[in-house]
Amino acid sequence: MAGVQVGVVKETAPGERRVALTPDAVPRLRDAGVEVLIESGAGTSAWFPDEDYAQAGATVVDAETLYGGADIVLGVGQPSPDRLRDGQAVIGLLAPLLNPALMAELAGRGITAISLDGLPRTLSRAQGMDALSSQSNIAGYKAVLVAADTFERFFPLLITAAGTSKPATVLVLGAGVAGLQAIGTARRLGAIVRAYDVRPQSKGEVQSLGGQFIELTSVESGAGEGGYARALSPEEQAAQAAELAEHIAKHDVVITTAQVPGRRPPLMVTADTLKSMRAGSVIVDMAASDLGGNVEISQPGETIVTNNGVTVIGAGSLPAAMPTSASNAYARNIGALLLHLLSDGALHIDLDDEIQRGVVITHGGSVVQAATAKLLEGAS
Ligand code: NAD
Repeated sequence: MAGVQVGVVKETAPGERRVALTPDAVPRLRDAGVEVLIESGAGTSAWFPDEDYAQAGATVVDAETLYGGADIVLGVGQPSPDRLRDGQAVIGLLAPLLNPALMAELAGRGITAISLDGLPRTLSRAQGMDALSSQSNIAGYKAVLVAADTFERFFPLLITAAGTSKPATVLVLGAGVAGLQAIGTARRLGAIVRAYDVRPQSKGEVQSLGGQFIELTSVESGAGEGGYARALSPEEQAAQAAELAEHIAKHDVVITTAQVPGRRPPLMVTADTLKSMRAGSVIVDMAASDLGGNVEISQPGETIVTNNGVTVIGAGSLPAAMPTSASNAYARNIGALLLHLLSDGALHIDLDDEIQRGVVITHGGSVVQAATAKLLEGAS
């Protein structure tokens, strides 16, 4: 009996250089009876040539053959809905909470949409599938490298015959997966690192990486559900930003990572606070998005230098700027999820399974994931 066919697409979003499956990940799927189709050139910008996929046992095809033949389409970002076949399945980071209308459209066409960002992340058996963590980890690392490259002084303490250079001071706002990797990376480059998070539990994690934890008095604990932060009220956000301002002004480099799932990222650095920073300071806003970011003036994918000499980098997709490592990690995550979803060589949707209840967004003509369905109810 022929096994299930999965098709790995070439990403089309501007600046996206990742690929959902790397050659290394192909044999494990083939061993499980999965036939892998790869769109020609899909891995090229992450430095995985077509030949490597072919050698690993995948079949290199054009886009038409892929979308026409695959039972399950694998991607990193959102698929273009026009290319998907009615009744097909698609797995990726689909951001359903930001695009509920697209999910409703896919449901209407009988497409099964499965999104890695719905994974119940604290479940230990799901950790190998946690693409949000693997990509945040890469983003946190890259954010520090981008900051260090832009900052026109040394990060470490250096004592040379030409004088002593003081270590750079780095402030990390939001100490989740990306923030913790940023703290570790900045420490390895020799900077003095301080960090703040609205979840008090993060204090020990910050300290264990050699960072100093900043405590604010104006905001109460912001721990929400599932290990995430809760959304602060506008008053709490204003009080937080005001208290943070004096800390921000004392740092050379600020890396902001604060997010609340499915919501606009909290505003933490106001335009006024930027005016109080020293010339030559650098901010990397990892939350910069079309919804806004943690820094009032940041724009995704753009670098802005203020009149007082502060460089504000609206980091778009940092994992896409390190596509080889990002794709390797993502491939392991999506491969593990795919194998979890297969039973007797075919996709087997079972909403009694906790992992599937989180990741399966649409199935059987309906939006089945609770959070997305709730958003759509609110919109109708
Ligand atoms: P995230 O990307 O949603 O947010 C990044 C950080 O921003 C979080 O630490 C959050 O607390 C912080 N934040 C949000 N609003 C803030 C505000 N107003 N002020 C300051 N900080 C603010 O988070 P994430 O990196 O995806 O991680 C979320 C949580 O999930 C963490 O507790 C993490 O340890 C946990 N997690 C657990 C596992 C696991 O158990 N295997 C895996 C991944 C993540």
